[in-house]
Amino acid sequence: DYRKGGYHPVSVGDRYDNGRYIVLRKLGWGHFSTVWLTLDTMTDTHVALKIVKSANRYTDSALEEIKLLECVKKTNPEAKGYRHVAQLLDHFWHQGPYGKHACMTFEVLGESLLSLMKRYNYKGIPQNIVKRISKQVLEGLDYLHRECGIVHTDLKPENVLVWIPNIEDYLKKDTAEILSDIKQKEAISLASSPTQLQPQNQPWLSESESAGLSKSKRKRLKKKKKMKSLQEAREEALENGDTGDLEDKMGNLKISTSWKRPKEIKVIPSSILDITSIEVDKEGLQVFDDIVVKIADLGNACWMDGEYTHVIQTRQYRSPEVIVGCKWTNEADMWSAACMIFELLTGEFLFDPRAGSKYNKDDDHLAQMLELMRTVPKVLISGGEFSREFFDRTGKLRQIKRLRYRRLRDVLHDTFLVPPEDADAASTFLLPMLEMDMAKRAPASQMLESPWLQESA
Ligand code: ADP
Ligand code: MG
Repeated sequence: DYRKGGYHPVSVGDRYDNGRYIVLRKLGWGHFSTVWLTLDTMTDTHVALKIVKSANRYTDSALEEIKLLECVKKTNPEAKGYRHVAQLLDHFWHQGPYGKHACMTFEVLGESLLSLMKRYNYKGIPQNIVKRISKQVLEGLDYLHRECGIVHTDLKPENVLVWIPNIEDYLKKDTAEILSDIKQKEAISLASSPTQLQPQNQPWLSESESAGLSKSKRKRLKKKKKMKSLQEAREEALENGDTGDLEDKMGNLKISTSWKRPKEIKVIPSSILDITSIEVDKEGLQVFDDIVVKIADLGNACWMDGEYTHVIQTRQYRSPEVIVGCKWTNEADMWSAACMIFELLTGEFLFDPRAGSKYNKDDDHLAQMLELMRTVPKVLISGGEFSREFFDRTGKLRQIKRLRYRRLRDVLHDTFLVPPEDADAASTFLLPMLEMDMAKRAPASQMLESPWLQESA
């Protein structure tokens, strides 16, 4: 994807925003961008630099992401959930060989909850830690929904990152070494070709200027067609869950796609398996008992007041209203939250649909939901653009007739060997978020009152 309209080629030592940010190493990548650890020479602190692909559709989407992030930053810094959403620090443009890239900087965060699950070999994260994580994610969602009016639309373990206290102390040691290396190389290249050190970056352009720059191009593209291709790119990413994170950096774990569960995982040093003790891995990153997490990646987020029916959410976290093509809004995030919390507890997807010879993934997905929730509300049977394709008039699935009904508490107890009392409590907690009827689904504010979370304090 390093080509015209694609990712920007980045090397260690590159400077961005007129020399302000120096690239130190790669942190991760997603369908739309690569993310780099950089030193902000103005503040002498480290920041994560997200460089978005340069095609117009990605740039437009990045401008929207910036607007949403600025709203998140400004709306209410006093809110409880404020610190549980990754905050934008700065943004600028960068002109590269493959086009003009939107760049954003964020506070440097640690591994994602997916990596955390791997540490526990996909056998589930201890319940007390899951409770603390859940509470913070719900606080973050409550902030996004109620205060900012934003739907995240892609909540999943990869998009929740662990915050690391005193991260500067750990990064600084490494950085000193990398910087002296970079300086040496710069001195050599300066001696051979003095012009190379000129910053290649364009100064920051305002949004209106940037709009002006691409205006002629924009005119040529019919808006509808352009929107469709962005949506197509998004759908591809959502179906394939294509993302990368600090595993690259930790070196001992190399699993590139998120949703395909690897058959074999390399053994992780036992010292970092135990999150409750303060341990330092070989990169110097710490995982603490007082774990703090932040919701990241607002790249697909939307304003709550819009009227949408397009496909959102990575497959396993997708809500029923999205599948049948109903209008969706913030309740869709609550469904994803339940799927994610179940996965944190058990290490396995709650729903993992597959296509069969006579049915597709959507049919199987709805069947799995029905096996757990039993009844389907009228709004899904007839209210969605595709409802008729899935359901007959009586609310029975057209393609899949035989359902194996089961209860969530039994799944937890029988399949995942959760003790009966814990299985009951976790299931009582999760079910209000798995309400098939989005109008009846519990909002984040209500979930925060749940007794299951209070035990985690
Ligand atoms: P995309 O919109 O392309 O999916 P993301 O914002 O999800 O981009 O970032 C891609 C990856 O980069 C993430 O999965 C994560 O591993 C890493 N990443 C993103 N933001 C940070 C951050 N603030 N600190 C550390 N790593 C980050
Ligand atoms: Mg992402």
